[in-house]
Amino acid sequence: MTTFESLMDFGEFKLNSDGLLPVVTQDYKTNEVLMVAYMDEEAFEHTVKTGRMTYFSRSRQSQWIKGETSGHFQYVKSLAIDCDKDTLLAKVEQIGAACHTGNRSCFYTTIVGADYDAKNPLQIFESVYNTILDRKEHPKEGSYTNYLFDKGLDKILKKVGEEATEVVIAAKNPNPEEVKYELSDFLYHAMVLMAEKGITWDDITKELADR
Ligand code: AMP
Ligand code: ZN
Ligand code: ZN
Ligand code: ZN
Repeated sequence: MTTFESLMDFGEFKLNSDGLLPVVTQDYKTNEVLMVAYMDEEAFEHTVKTGRMTYFSRSRQSQWIKGETSGHFQYVKSLAIDCDKDTLLAKVEQIGAACHTGNRSCFYTTIVGADYDAKNPLQIFESVYNTILDRKEHPKEGSYTNYLFDKGLDKILKKVGEEATEVVIAAKNPNPEEVKYELSDFLYHAMVLMAEKGITWDDITKELADR
């Protein structure tokens, strides 16, 4: 349990007409907005003390430790208050999905414009990787990923080698589309290998950033 200390008291915040403080919760690494909820003083104190995001549920009119029933806890990384002290910004490590629908973020319904978030490269890699892990844990009939896991490490390695060679061959081809397809094949098979070896994108990005 990580205990924090707040530089501000709850009494210094400007509460809304329900006497609550709106909280915007973001993924601490990608800055993806995960959800918006509310805190009362008790929820705020509990959040700071335990390092677990705790809100005030307006529908149940009670304190709510996010993840208490789903296991989808949110571990506090930082809390910031905005200019007029009426909205809190929380950066968290999100376990599983923030939304009770199973979506990582509650904001999965784009109603104006396009969904640019879904085009964030790290998010796409993470999401494909999570799907691969999910297949490993919950095999699906007819899944090519499960076929690879069933055949085992040697088969996965053979495919990684083949796809790497195909990238090289495609790169010699004047059509740039080819190398795009082959790199995608290669990256997918590399992720199957990562899943087989228990290596996450966190491990890879950390290694690259530290070099
Ligand atoms: P959890 O806190 O994830 O264990 O979920 C417990 C209950 O809280 C769910 O059944 C929902 O009613 C509600 N809930 C969970 N996550 C959210 C969310 N992101 N937004 C609104 N309600 C939520
Ligand atoms: Zn401002
Ligand atoms: Zn404000
Ligand atoms: Zn939701």
